[in-house]
Order: sequence, then C-alpha cells, then structure tokens
Amino acid sequence: MKLNLDILPLSSWLATGKEPLVIAGPCSAETEEQVVATAHLLAATGKISVLRAGIWKPRTRPGEFEGIGSIGLEWLKRAKEETGLLTATEVATAKHVEEALAAGVDILWVGARSTANPFTVQEIADALQGVDVPVLVKNPVNPDLSLWIGALERINRAGIKKLGAIHRGFSSYEKTAFRNEPMWDLAIQLKTVAPELPIINDPSHICGTRELIPYVAQKAVDLDMQGFIIESHIDPSVAWTDAKQQVTPAALADLINNLSLRKAESNDPVFEDKLAALRKEIDAIDDQIIKKVADRMKIVEKIGEYKRDNKVTILQVNRWEEIIEKRSKFAKALNLEEDFTVKLLELIHGESIRKQNQIMNAKPAVEA
Ligand code: PEP
Ligand code: MN
Repeated sequence: MKLNLDILPLSSWLATGKEPLVIAGPCSAETEEQVVATAHLLAATGKISVLRAGIWKPRTRPGEFEGIGSIGLEWLKRAKEETGLLTATEVATAKHVEEALAAGVDILWVGARSTANPFTVQEIADALQGVDVPVLVKNPVNPDLSLWIGALERINRAGIKKLGAIHRGFSSYEKTAFRNEPMWDLAIQLKTVAPELPIINDPSHICGTRELIPYVAQKAVDLDMQGFIIESHIDPSVAWTDAKQQVTPAALADLINNLSLRKAESNDPVFEDKLAALRKEIDAIDDQIIKKVADRMKIVEKIGEYKRDNKVTILQVNRWEEIIEKRSKFAKALNLEEDFTVKLLELIHGESIRKQNQIMNAKPAVEA
C-alpha cells in the first residue's frame, strides 16, 4: 500500500541549511523572560532552526498547568523578532489554529492526544482549509498506525502540502525505561507507505528522562529520520511541565554535536558497488527463505491431510514445545537473538495452523 498524499518536499519549505533539522524549545511557554532567554541561548548554539513552545497544554488531570494561553503567542513573536528563529506550537482546536495563525506562528503541530481523535483532527483540518502553513502531525498516543495516517490524510485533504510527521513514541501497558515506547516499526511502516513524507523524531517524549535522549536521537539518525523536536529549557530543574526530560540549550548543542550523522545515499562509487553486491546477496537469500517457507507449508498441508484422515487434533503442544526449544538453541548457537527466533517461529507456526485448519475443515467437494 502507498499513501496518496499531495505534499511538497521538506527542502522546499524548510530549507534551514543546517544538518540535522532541529526544532527546540521549552515544553511550555511559562513567562516572557523564560521564552525569550531560552530562544536567545538556542539561537546562539547555531544548531537550531525553529523555536517550539506549548501555549495550550493537554494535561491528563485537571488543575495542572494547562498552558499560559494566547499571551504566550506574543512572547513567541518577540523571540522570533529578536533571534530570527521560526516558531512552532501545538494546536488542538479551531480557535488555537486561528489565534496561532493571527500571531504569525510559522509551524503548527497536532499533538498525540489530538491525533487519536478524528473529530479533533477534522476540526483542526477544517480550520486550516485554504491556509498555507506547515503542519506536523504527532503519532497518536496509542500504537495505531491507521490513526496516524488518517490524521495526516485529513490535514492534507484540507490543502496542507507542507506536511510532516512527528514520531513521539506510544503508550504501552508494560512499563519500561521509556515514557513512551518508540515502537520504531510503526515509524518505519509510515515511511514505507509514504516515502516522501518527512518524519521528525521527538526523543524527549519517547524518553521522559534526559539521560536517554542521545541514544534515541542516534537511532533516529540511523533510521534516516529528517530531524528532531527536542524540549529545551533555560533551567530544566524549575520547568513547570516535563522537567525531567528537558535539557539546557548548552546540553542540546552537545547532544547534536555528538550525533554521528549518516546519509541515506553515498556518492562514492566503490561504496555503491560494494553495497550493490551485498544487496544482491541479501536478495538471493530472501528468495531462498521464501522458497523454503513455501516448501515447509507444502509439507504442513500433507500433515494436515494425514491428521484429518486419522482424526487427530491440529495442535500437539509437546511437538510445538520441542520445536521452540530445539530451534531456539540452534539459532542461539548461530548468534540469533532468542526473542527474534521465537517470534519468527510463532509466525510460521501460526500460518501452519491456519493452513491445517483450512484443510481439516474444508467441505468435501459435492459430486454433480
Ligand atoms: C509536547 O510536545 O509538549 C506534547 C504535549 O507532546 P505530545 O503531544 O507528544 O504528548
Ligand atoms: Mn512536553
């Protein structure tokens, strides 16, 4: 499947001349001082192109700081005038869109909670009809690629061609070191269905603690993401929201300097030749894997027929346990991760069960 998005390349609407693209700024605009001073420090690093700050904050519980509101837009305007940085903020209602546009905010983003709600996304999309402003769509809170895609489509259909996605991780039941599980697969799947859509990584909301940010940011570079949105506060220890994940502008500059930037392509012909040869090998092995899986399924069909004729159940638990144990040991000896091997076997086994089920429950052909 390929998505049918009518979009412009990132380089045509956000040519920063900086590598990578970095959007940075406080989680929330708190005071005029804090916004303007943070902006100056960020601009002085020479690494940042866009200043972010939340003006309206979606909070899980009422009574927490819900954003400074419209007055903060004036602070963004001042920060832009004084530093030359572009500005970006989150919009969650039609009124937010109108106010942000009236105040000259350069880039709007749709937050993770909004993306999860098609009514909200549609309200934002309707407010954007006929407006030429870049919009970035965060992934929904829950790991649902269709919701993310749906939100991008709604905004795009409103005529927004300067469109990008933000990967900020997903809520998960299991608690891990991350505040929001990266689930890189989902970002890769989005890239696969919409290769021209820029994806910007938000390591701050994935990590939840600043110490983890460099690792996630490097992984995003390695997966060829187009840039970052990172929370930066002049004094994170006193931040009104997301204090643990914010970094000072100086720490942010260090973080960017320490990334190993890699390119998706190379101009070196020797490298390209070597890569092409290795890819050929991979192609041949992939073909063999598929052929072998197909051979395996043919035998599974025979077993299915045999079990059917002898009235034996499809699943024999002992046999399955034996397969998992033996194959995992073998795979481990070949340096494959056990977790991976088990997942692979489960996938193959699931399909084998489906096939056998089909055979065992097939209606006998009726003679004419
Ligand atoms: C934010 O960027 O400050 C924010 C609220 O993020 P998210 O929508 O990803 O939770
Ligand atoms: Mn935040």
